[in-house]
Amino acid sequence: MPSRKFAEGEVVRGRWPGSSLYYEVEILSHDNKSQVYTVKYKDGTELELKESDIKPLKSFKQRKSGSTSSSPSRRRSSRSRSRSRSRSPGRAPKGSRRSVSASYQADAKEKEMRREILQVKLTPLVLKPFANSVSVYNGEPEHMEKNATPPKNKQERVILSTEDSYIATQYSLRPRREEVKTKNIESEEQNLVTKGPAPLGTFQVTTPQRRDLEFGGVPGALLIMLGLPACVFLLLLQCAQKDPGLLRFPPPLPALRELWEARVCGVYLLWFFLQALFSLLPVGKVVEGTPLVDGRRLKYRLNGLYAFILTSAAVGTAVFWEIELYYLYTHFLQFALAAIVFSVVLSVYLYARSLKARRDELSPASSGNAVYDFFIGRELNPRIGAFDLKFFCELRPGLIGWVVINLVMLLAEMKVQERSAPSLAMTLVNSFQLLYVVDALWFEEALLTTMDIIHDGFGFMLAFGDLVWVPFTYSLQAFYLVNHPQDLSWPLASVIIALKLCGYVIFRCANSQKNAFRKNPTDPKLAHLKTIPTSTGKSLLVSGWWGFVRHPNYLGDLIMALAWSLPCGFNHILPYFYVIYFTALLIHREARDEHQCRRKYGLAWEKYCQRVPYRIVPYIY
Ligand code: NDP
Repeated sequence: MPSRKFAEGEVVRGRWPGSSLYYEVEILSHDNKSQVYTVKYKDGTELELKESDIKPLKSFKQRKSGSTSSSPSRRRSSRSRSRSRSRSPGRAPKGSRRSVSASYQADAKEKEMRREILQVKLTPLVLKPFANSVSVYNGEPEHMEKNATPPKNKQERVILSTEDSYIATQYSLRPRREEVKTKNIESEEQNLVTKGPAPLGTFQVTTPQRRDLEFGGVPGALLIMLGLPACVFLLLLQCAQKDPGLLRFPPPLPALRELWEARVCGVYLLWFFLQALFSLLPVGKVVEGTPLVDGRRLKYRLNGLYAFILTSAAVGTAVFWEIELYYLYTHFLQFALAAIVFSVVLSVYLYARSLKARRDELSPASSGNAVYDFFIGRELNPRIGAFDLKFFCELRPGLIGWVVINLVMLLAEMKVQERSAPSLAMTLVNSFQLLYVVDALWFEEALLTTMDIIHDGFGFMLAFGDLVWVPFTYSLQAFYLVNHPQDLSWPLASVIIALKLCGYVIFRCANSQKNAFRKNPTDPKLAHLKTIPTSTGKSLLVSGWWGFVRHPNYLGDLIMALAWSLPCGFNHILPYFYVIYFTALLIHREARDEHQCRRKYGLAWEKYCQRVPYRIVPYIY
């Protein structure tokens, strides 16, 4: 009979899944066959733990002043109140990364610890349904749900339908190494591999080598990289025609030499580097991003709004000095080509520099395939000193550039149509999109928790998206209106304004609610909201905006997109390109996010999906 270290009824400390935190638990039973203990935490949570995840009480030094937390949930909330006090063991010592001169022994120990942490994975064990009833503990106990009625007894049992019983699981905390030996599960999941010894002074981490590539894998990435620039040109050429009827598609293509102009390239570079200069100004607060794989947090300076104000002043001065901004309109295609070339050159630079990046600096989306990685981005946070290239490109040259293009289109409309004032349709399009950009810059910090920053590398996809796609296709409505005047009545305009405001309220409230919750889950203003705890320590909102649909912010964004197009009338589909493209983008993005959340939160996410069945549009999708 295999030996066992802990007896039933013994009070010990058990590791909480997905973390390095130990809590007081009682040993309930031991399974000789699988060598796991069933333990009960003080809050009633029952888990299966490996012996190596259990420590005798005496091996822990008692903290002073009752700092011993009695339950994971309680500990979690105190952790969120005081992050600096309970850093994850994976985090580097405060303020700096480990120096190369650190002792080899300490490094080896730390590496081992990190490897252990990274290899711990929550694995749901499916329980056999027993006459439609199963023992409840599933890693996310119902009674931990905030604002939910507490269970009457701790040995809570729930009745589930046969279908539900498939997700009635128990978490077992075993190192993945051993799990892989016994079962070859999750073969389609991210394959975590540990290769060769890491250089001294760096953490040895597992590098993502994904097999389940997004965007159609390598062929999809190739197609997108060739197709998107062509799409931009076709849209702009079509929109520039007096009669952009679909029968006139494709529009006549200009010769390449007509498209390439050195002066335009110079102006484009000036614009880009001016924005870079603005972003380097020592104004605006400095915040920390989310923790990286090695535990570090990068610092970001939030001065997007200042950059916008300075840009507005510069554009205002240009108008005052009668500098011909109309040039941007007459050379719109040339500017688009300059931006495309610049984004390709930038992508090549980003890929080349990523070859020298450490393994732990690579994006979780990278695959090991050169073509795919060129597209999705290999390095997660490429920086030149403190200058973060991805963070800068996401909101500055392209987004602010979009507003400038819109303004130029407004001036061009007045000139082309010989108007003394811009049309109502143009005014609405400009104001709606201006509000969107100012909102993004005002809430710049929220960018730090988006998929773009956390998950995707910086490669062609984001470089092209930020520098070409956003400014040159999002401004299509304004570009369209220059040559295709619309007489918009005030009653119709009022309906469109109401639609825009409705979309904005949903978009803003949903984003702010989640951001506030992520910043401080114990915020008293959010105390009325119901949440589902997850084994990562984070909770999921299950009421309020996030209980309405699973992506209320996307819903608001789509409503706003429609409001941007409606002022252009119904003569042509071109101004509706944005709504159509954006719907496809958000459906795809939602699926990507869903996939990642399912991975991150497992059963808790399933539970969330059961509670909030619709993804973006209630009762429809
Ligand atoms: P979201 O803001 O939608 O964030 C998704 C993340 O939120 C999830 O990964 C999860 O991360 C967290 N989350 C999900 N559900 C819950 C819940 N119930 N409770 C708490 N947290 C939850 O991500 P995006 O980056 O896709 O979008 C940000 C905004 O940008 C949106 O408004 C979107 O419309 C807009 N956008 C605009 C684009 C444009 O071109 N105009 C393009 C793309 C996006 P975790 O749990 O790790 O915090």
